[in-house]
Amino acid sequence: MPPDVSQLPLVGGHPALDLVNTLERGGTSPHDFLSDTSALLRWSVLVGTISDVEAEQVDRAWRDEPAAAHAGLAAVRDIREGLYLVLRAAIIDADGGTADDLVAAGAALVALHQRWSGAVARARFVLDSSRVRLAYDTVPAMLVPDRIAEAAYDVMLTADLTRVRRCPVLEGGCGWLFLDRSRNGSRRWCRMADCGNVVKARRLTERRRAARPSGSEAVGEGVPVRAVMPSRDAQQTFAKAL
Ligand SMILES: [Zn+2]
Repeated sequence: MPPDVSQLPLVGGHPALDLVNTLERGGTSPHDFLSDTSALLRWSVLVGTISDVEAEQVDRAWRDEPAAAHAGLAAVRDIREGLYLVLRAAIIDADGGTADDLVAAGAALVALHQRWSGAVARARFVLDSSRVRLAYDTVPAMLVPDRIAEAAYDVMLTADLTRVRRCPVLEGGCGWLFLDRSRNGSRRWCRMADCGNVVKARRLTERRRAARPSGSEAVGEGVPVRAVMPSRDAQQTFAKAL
């Protein structure tokens, strides 16, 4: 049974990056955590783009108008794909991206601007004590995609896109995107507790295996299995040294 969206760790460091991570890419059958409008609603609360109260309002609006619910999901998926293309171009660009990547990103920016323009057109100005803000709550059926469009706008215009990283797949990472907010910009893994430690443990096993004397491959030759399995303490000590 595929994992539920509520089990999806939020590692992006920004709702817009967490949105991109709701679709697994590559492989023969990529899993979409935003599988239906119900999953989208739960994820929106999880990531904080709407509140519990707003989720109830959206749920009512979507029940009254199922077509609007599906339009909302399609809009969010559209924004997700556009964001992915833009962020991918930003990541690739550091290593010299191709012209096709930049053309795709440019087209995605046009589509993202249209989504954001639609959201702003539905928004209203609200006087909030010391300042005026945009409130995207005039059309409950469109609240979810409008808040996502706002998040996309926010990350593209305020984040340092050279700090967008991809958890390195070729080194055993998961491929999720995240915003590196570390002081020196050297973060490599989406979450050290997950991918980083898994990869380090795997490397440790590989190094131990490579360090074994020749002829010790077969357990039947009298070499205890435990001899090639580091103790928990040794594993931790080694991991710290990496
Ligand atoms: Zn990862």
